[in-house]
Amino acid sequence: MQSPSDSLASPRFCGVPTFMRLPPGGPNDPIDVAILGLPSDNGSPFRTGARFGPNAIRAASVMLRPINPYRGGLNIFAALRLADAGDAEVVPGYQEPTLVALEQAAAELIGAGITPLCLGGDHSVSLPVLRALAKQRGRVALVHFDSHTDTWDRYFADRLYSAGTPFRRAVEENLVDPARSIQVGMRGSLFRADDVSQSETLGYAVLTTDEIFALGLENAARAVAARVGDAPCYLTFDLDFVDPGCAPGVQTPEAGGPTSREALALLRALPPLNLLGADVVETNPLFDGPGQITALLAATVAAEILAMMAARKAGLAAAAG
Ligand code: MN
Ligand code: MN
Repeated sequence: MQSPSDSLASPRFCGVPTFMRLPPGGPNDPIDVAILGLPSDNGSPFRTGARFGPNAIRAASVMLRPINPYRGGLNIFAALRLADAGDAEVVPGYQEPTLVALEQAAAELIGAGITPLCLGGDHSVSLPVLRALAKQRGRVALVHFDSHTDTWDRYFADRLYSAGTPFRRAVEENLVDPARSIQVGMRGSLFRADDVSQSETLGYAVLTTDEIFALGLENAARAVAARVGDAPCYLTFDLDFVDPGCAPGVQTPEAGGPTSREALALLRALPPLNLLGADVVETNPLFDGPGQITALLAATVAAEILAMMAARKAGLAAAAG
């Protein structure tokens, strides 16, 4: 395996764009974690364009450096064997064959013992990754950052697999253990009075944006960690968790959210969770602000998730002596 390009030797704007300038790689390579683009917005009930998310995040990610000072100064490239596995094939406009293709791409990595860190795509792309994980590793706990629960039953005539429904489908299909799962960041206006409580009816815990700030970020992180414990888990981060002032390039912006600083502080306050996979979704570069601020934040969130994975691996190695 090649090393990532050294940005002190080769300017960041040079080369084939991959996430954090990683080498390309896939299921046949000796890697721990692979970046996998899931460039589908077939499930978008509102603004389409998240299909361009993975490459926008890759372009912004050249700004990120290898050492994460928030996790003990770990060099994530030294702690983890990483590669960019490119994008899953999708069928624009056709959701069900796309979901099959996304599941297959994730399943190939998982089957090779590689943890997928996926870049969306709208939020419907989480469901096929959870299907792939459940088939090979059993059901997982879900840690879900979003301003919406995405537990609606359906959208329009028969949109079973919309960006607004994956976490109801995941319970129905027994892909997640809701008793160990938590949805974080809900806020804003509702379609119906039970839009948030429907998640609790499904068994999820819900921590609203108001509750995060009433608790404080450290205590909110503790509440998430207490719910999940050491259960095998999947972390999904919808960029609309963050205030649209910091993350305008999303499908369904929701005013009154955490700043990018507060969102990153919350992630950095989490202990190293037992992640079997993760995704960063709903980056829509067609609606992004000047300087591609949403894509930069998405790249930074993805790098924080890598740092969490690196810290977990380093911690297990230290415990094993
Ligand atoms: Mn969502
Ligand atoms: Mn959302």
